[in-house]
Amino acid sequence: MQAIRIHEHGSYETLVIDSLPVPEIQPDEVLIKVKTAALNHLDIWVRKGIPGVSLPLTMGSDAAGVIEKTGAVAAQEFAFKKGDEVFGIPIRSCGHCELCLQGKDNLCRDFHIPGESIQGVQAEYIAVPAKYVLLKPNRLSWPETAALPLAAMTAYHMLAPKVQLKSGEWILIYGASSGIGSMAIQIAKALGARVITTAGSAEKLQAAKQLGADYVINYKTQPVGKTVREITSGSGVDVVFEHTGALTWNDSLRALGKGGRLVTCGATTGPQVKIDLRALFIKHQQIIGSTMGTRQDMVDILDLVETGKLKPAVDKVFSFKEIKNAHQYLEDGRPFGKIVLDF
Ligand SMILES: [Zn+2]
Repeated sequence: MQAIRIHEHGSYETLVIDSLPVPEIQPDEVLIKVKTAALNHLDIWVRKGIPGVSLPLTMGSDAAGVIEKTGAVAAQEFAFKKGDEVFGIPIRSCGHCELCLQGKDNLCRDFHIPGESIQGVQAEYIAVPAKYVLLKPNRLSWPETAALPLAAMTAYHMLAPKVQLKSGEWILIYGASSGIGSMAIQIAKALGARVITTAGSAEKLQAAKQLGADYVINYKTQPVGKTVREITSGSGVDVVFEHTGALTWNDSLRALGKGGRLVTCGATTGPQVKIDLRALFIKHQQIIGSTMGTRQDMVDILDLVETGKLKPAVDKVFSFKEIKNAHQYLEDGRPFGKIVLDF
């Protein structure tokens, strides 16, 4: 079978398609014949080199496909069978520590994301523990199914368990066109919030409105913090959804109202920021970190999908053989929504 791998870190030129044996499955695993796999910004970080990555590595965290073979335990305990249409939940944890037993999988000391610290899923066949496999939602196409898990889990975990976004609250969500931003807009609307979002072109602002955003700001021509203050009649937002880091940080703090919560999961434009502690404590604000989500988050997300409240925005589908072009397209920041590979 063929798999997208890297043997060294660097530009998209380091991405290669290798021939590997079809994986053997353990009793608790299923063998999935992959139909679609999604790209995430994580793929770019991994390719360029982050700690904890061992090479060679099969790339990718999100994949969907059809079950080809089922281990004995996977068949008995999870009732999976050959031909089931499924997708993988892009997390692994020990399953037996105190945190795992409390459902806090993403705090487990043995937490992994496929395509980061363990082998990924951008291959024609993958072996996945049945515990991390769910049936494909009927409402979603194959590209949409692959596009869903990592971005939706990250956004949902930030909005629901972490900041507990409430109906009627104001939220600023950066980057409407990013995978995570486009998911967050829909999830925030499903939770009843009033959404302000940002993008860099009239076309993308229009697409953000179609996803449900109430107000849109062109960050290239409008000062974000000041504009948010105007929209909210001076009070600022209850929640800022951050994933960009240094470049947007000052605007984030300016936009955040009294008692507000800023939740962040990324630092695309740089990890070092400044905070005036006096403003933080006088305004009773909270800054909250979050990474990925839990198995339960994924189950909750499927409810939003089944009720038509969440549908991944897919920008473009590439053949997996065009992986270099796909990375380049994502890295240049051109897409609105997710990039998917067709296997
Ligand atoms: Zn654990």
